[in-house]
Amino acid sequence: MRNPRPGEWLSEKLSQRYVGDYKPFVFVDGEGVRCSLYLSGCLFACEGCFNEATWSFRYGQEYSQELEDQILTDLGQEYVQGLTLLGGEPFLNTGVCLGLIDRVRRKFGSSKDVWSWTGYTFEEPAAREPGQARHAPRNRCSGRRPVRTRET
Ligand code: SF4
Repeated sequence: MRNPRPGEWLSEKLSQRYVGDYKPFVFVDGEGVRCSLYLSGCLFACEGCFNEATWSFRYGQEYSQELEDQILTDLGQEYVQGLTLLGGEPFLNTGVCLGLIDRVRRKFGSSKDVWSWTGYTFEEPAAREPGQARHAPRNRCSGRRPVRTRET
């Protein structure tokens, strides 16, 4: 397992804007019915990682405007509670995630929640990229495996 120094891993240098998968209307990535976007690329190298293929920043396919539009359409279903960002490592793909969250907030206000599953601890991303803290997902399940905590 790797532990980065502050500023060592930067999304803008690492992200290739690839996603491994997108799953609408799932029940397993947070509370309620959710739309889940799996970002590609992770450097933590946790022992027992559930999907090592997602460590590659070129795993899957390139994120597209069409996919983003589809996510917004799916989130518009009344029974969908929110969006989940996971991976791979969503905080090493902030260019994708922050743009998507911005559109979600503009379209739905606070009526849809945003969760993230990340290898970073709660303090790390804000310390690394303080300008982005205000865009951070409200609920974040964080920490390298096997330790996970949840902000409530
Ligand atoms: S943070 Fe998640 S995706 Fe990355 S190595 Fe650890 S378990 Fe795997």
